[in-house]
Amino acid sequence: SNQPDRFYKVCVPSNSRVMMLLGQLERMNGDIVRQAETARQVTAKILHLIQTQEKSGKEVMSKGSSGMEVILASLENTRDVQTILNILSILTELLTVGRGRRVGVFVSKGGTGILFHTLLSASKEMPPSEELMLQLHSLLAKVGPKDRKFGVAARLSGALNVTVNLIKQNLQNPKLLLPCLQVLRVYSTNSVNAISLGKNGVVELLFKVLAPYSKKNTSLLKVALDALGALLKSKTNARRAADGGYVPILLALYADWHRNDARHRHMLIRKGLLVCLRNITNIKLGRKAFVEADGMRVLYNSSTECLPVRTLDPLVNTSSLIMRKCFPKKRLPLPTIQSAFLFQLPYVPGTGPAGRTYSQGPGVDDVVDESDDNDEADTENDTENEEDEKDQQSPNDDIETDLNKLHPKKGPCRPYEELRVYERFFVELSEDFQVSQVSVLIRRWKVQASQCLCRPFPQTRALSPGLTQGPPAASARFRILPPASLTPLQLDNIHISKDQEKTGDAHIPTTDKRDRTLSPLGPEDEAAEGAVLEVPDTALLLPLHDLDLYVEMVKGTLSVPQYAEVAYPDYFGHVAPTFREPLLERVYGVQRAKIFQDIERLIHPNDIVDKVVYDLDIPSCPVIEDDGESLKFNSQFESGNLRKAVQVRKFEYDLVLNSDINSNHYHQWFYFEVSGMKVGTTYRFNIINCEKSNSQFNYGMQALMYSVQEAISGSPRWVRTGTDICYYKNHFARSSIAAGGLKGKSYYTLTFSINFKHKDDVCYFAYHYPYTYSTLKMHLSKLEALRTPQIYLRQDVLCETLGGNGCPLLTITAMPESNSNDHICQFRNRPLIFLSARVHPGETNASWVMKGTLEFLMGSSPLANSLRESYIFKIVPMLNPDGVINGNHRCSLSGEDLNRQWQSPNLELHPPSTTLRVFCDYHGHSRKKNVFMYGCSVKETVWQSNISATSSDLQEDLAYRALPKILSQIAPAFSMASCSFVVERSKESTARVVVWREIGVQRSYTMESTLCGCDQGKYKGLQIGTRELEEMGAQFCVALLRLKRLTGLRNHQHLLDLERKKKKTSCPTTYVLDEDEPSFLEAIDYSAESNDEDVEAENEHLRRIHLYLSGLHVWLQSRKHSTDGVSI
Ligand SMILES: [Zn+2]
Repeated sequence: SNQPDRFYKVCVPSNSRVMMLLGQLERMNGDIVRQAETARQVTAKILHLIQTQEKSGKEVMSKGSSGMEVILASLENTRDVQTILNILSILTELLTVGRGRRVGVFVSKGGTGILFHTLLSASKEMPPSEELMLQLHSLLAKVGPKDRKFGVAARLSGALNVTVNLIKQNLQNPKLLLPCLQVLRVYSTNSVNAISLGKNGVVELLFKVLAPYSKKNTSLLKVALDALGALLKSKTNARRAADGGYVPILLALYADWHRNDARHRHMLIRKGLLVCLRNITNIKLGRKAFVEADGMRVLYNSSTECLPVRTLDPLVNTSSLIMRKCFPKKRLPLPTIQSAFLFQLPYVPGTGPAGRTYSQGPGVDDVVDESDDNDEADTENDTENEEDEKDQQSPNDDIETDLNKLHPKKGPCRPYEELRVYERFFVELSEDFQVSQVSVLIRRWKVQASQCLCRPFPQTRALSPGLTQGPPAASARFRILPPASLTPLQLDNIHISKDQEKTGDAHIPTTDKRDRTLSPLGPEDEAAEGAVLEVPDTALLLPLHDLDLYVEMVKGTLSVPQYAEVAYPDYFGHVAPTFREPLLERVYGVQRAKIFQDIERLIHPNDIVDKVVYDLDIPSCPVIEDDGESLKFNSQFESGNLRKAVQVRKFEYDLVLNSDINSNHYHQWFYFEVSGMKVGTTYRFNIINCEKSNSQFNYGMQALMYSVQEAISGSPRWVRTGTDICYYKNHFARSSIAAGGLKGKSYYTLTFSINFKHKDDVCYFAYHYPYTYSTLKMHLSKLEALRTPQIYLRQDVLCETLGGNGCPLLTITAMPESNSNDHICQFRNRPLIFLSARVHPGETNASWVMKGTLEFLMGSSPLANSLRESYIFKIVPMLNPDGVINGNHRCSLSGEDLNRQWQSPNLELHPPSTTLRVFCDYHGHSRKKNVFMYGCSVKETVWQSNISATSSDLQEDLAYRALPKILSQIAPAFSMASCSFVVERSKESTARVVVWREIGVQRSYTMESTLCGCDQGKYKGLQIGTRELEEMGAQFCVALLRLKRLTGLRNHQHLLDLERKKKKTSCPTTYVLDEDEPSFLEAIDYSAESNDEDVEAENEHLRRIHLYLSGLHVWLQSRKHSTDGVSI
């Protein structure tokens, strides 16, 4: 035979004793049954060698050796029990060494299957050999966790029953029981096996193994608990356990181990018991049983005792997870989740969120589901035909894979005449510049604003008698009434100078810069307890801010609740602090501590106050019952958002946010006023109806606070404030109506604690630096003052919103050098850059970036001049004024486009536009750090989605990368690594994708600014402020100019080369997932589901803008055609 030759060729060294024995074994393999005695001897010798010489094992397992095949073939073929035992011992010896590589070899050679085969044969012997069963299970237990197909192979071979029967027969035989339970533990991790084992009574069987505290057989108990925990992941098994009354048993066992395991030697057993409870309480029946068995108190008490011992954290964390799940769901303290503000739409759409809201009948309780008895009926049964072991390589379904959709759209052309409606937005293109340059500028929104002044404010309150008394203090001081009497700034209390001249009354504040009295009190009250306080003139620091102009602007702003008050921060303005505001370091265990306080509401209710102190849903809001024991809240001013405040404990408040108008969700933005505080105590605030599954508040972000006391003493500014901040899923039920039809969802709590510095202060809290519509109008008005004869600036009204506010459209460019034909021609042929912001009202950071952009563009620097001479800027700085004014987070007053004027133009699209050069919509991002861009690239989308496309489809100019690349080089907050150029399906109706695909603008972007801070660059580790945001806006302009110079060279190559050099890995794409933060030890969410979509809501203004852009583009193209041949 030449077999040995072949064998020896592959083995080294040829003189090895163990290899010679293996050779001998291989030679007898065909006839091993008849040579039983020899086989027994040879295998015994091999075993001896491997047991005594380390090198023998190495030789068998060495690369290129076929030793394992020979051993397995022998095991498969022999029927001699002693030989089998020898071989199993050999395998046990071999596989015990090394870090799993040897087990890997064993599995790859089909070893598992042979073991199951051997197990089945052995089980047919009566009685089966105990020694053999022990050896086989020990080996299976070793191999199982490393073999992905172990569970399926076990089920198909019939091994499950063999093991289960052995367990049943050997409950009193720990020696054999242990390996069998170990194998059972591996079987149970397969979900189909778990169901099958449950049907065969294995759950009940395992409960027979569990026992109260004892020092005996602890490893057995540990393995049994692991197996049980795995089985209870199946909902059918969990139901079985709950029905069988095992929840109180598990709780009693846990309490017993907790009591007796005083030295914490058996933490794993205690953890195992908790894991079983955790899995049973995944079903409603289990939670019910847990609560009935007083589980909340048992786990609360045991956890409290564990808290001081850090090593017991896993027990505390798992207990906390179970308690959160089982905490009885509470109703949000609201009559309805629809906005507290009513705005009747002139036309109610049939579909969409607003349509659904309107079609909801009266008296429907949308806060909690009518009956949630069946909330899990559909999911509580396991699907037995679920595919196991199938590679779950799930591609991202959201990436666009339709190549047709990734290429420009083609549609029918519209007649030129129809497009003339857009002409009015391009007045500059038909201006002849013969008349006075200034007189042609129209400021429509201002006209509108002045008309609005006549509108009465029904909620205006009567002036207090003291208001008109006393002459104004004749000092260059900003006087304010004693802090104790700081009252809301009411529009009617703030008189602009003209009125004052007329009436001669000492209305306050006045526009007279020498006398700014804010308070309605006369000087005779000064002595009482207040002092005359000063506010430095911020004119130099805030050149675009003007207190009186602000009030004037507020009067022209129309809000749905018809606000008559002005928030101090918006009135005073914000001077960015000069100190650094680092990301807040998260205190260890903070979430746990907060959750325990929440659980105490249930367990120790004696200190619960539960007093409503503010409620927009009742007509007498704010609820004033000034007993000095509660804080006072207010949110009734522009951009304010707070619906309700409940004093839960003496120094703790639950706050509820208002839904966007004509919507029943989108709670994120908040802005409210607090007064009546005490100094020297810590107040805890909980915003209890947040919706997103995670937040940057978990990663260093703090909310913003503005202290009026600080402002009047010289520091008018928003400051990042708050400690003990965390964001987690809470115990308030979210109805299916509020969760888009999904049942069993919860809300999230944002909690933070505050120590107020000043007694009787008035403080404001906000999600991010507020930027109201009135602020925008004030800034635009002040910007106009910066115009020089060289600057062309127009302010038009793009459209009037449903709420009656103008949506400003700015045109900024340079005046033509002269009115010669050449210069006017150059003017008219400048390419366009389109910028917009605040389609989402809660993303106030976008406005600060936009402010930076506008200030730069209106500036006198040579760069600004050069930009103006190169481009015509079309800017819509606030796409959603109504949303901003009314304190919405994401929507406008309706989800529908009501203006027929903006009907979709069916567009014949011309070759990629050279007219519209860059489109960028400024946004804010609540879940990521840094500033970054989303762009559009066919190539990167194709690359990401793995769709096959011919190379001709993939020819793409890399121009889309140039602008973000430049930004990453010049703007410290900007991060290229955070950018993404993948086109997602869910984003297909966003301005960015529409402008790219339908208008063919390559450089179409969304620029996302963090609400939190930076984790790279110069600002690494710091929270972002208005200074950095404004800088970002200015740097965006600088980047545009650099881009122009680069494209002027018609060569981005060197820029991209730069990028390539920097990146060692040549991954062409940067597809970034929504959340990029590491997960916590402390789970924010306690359920498996956590997949909230972050789809940009289709919004009437977004659509308007998209249509406006399509329209303007086509109009420009048509105009070009119609004027072809006509010399300008
Ligand atoms: Zn946004």
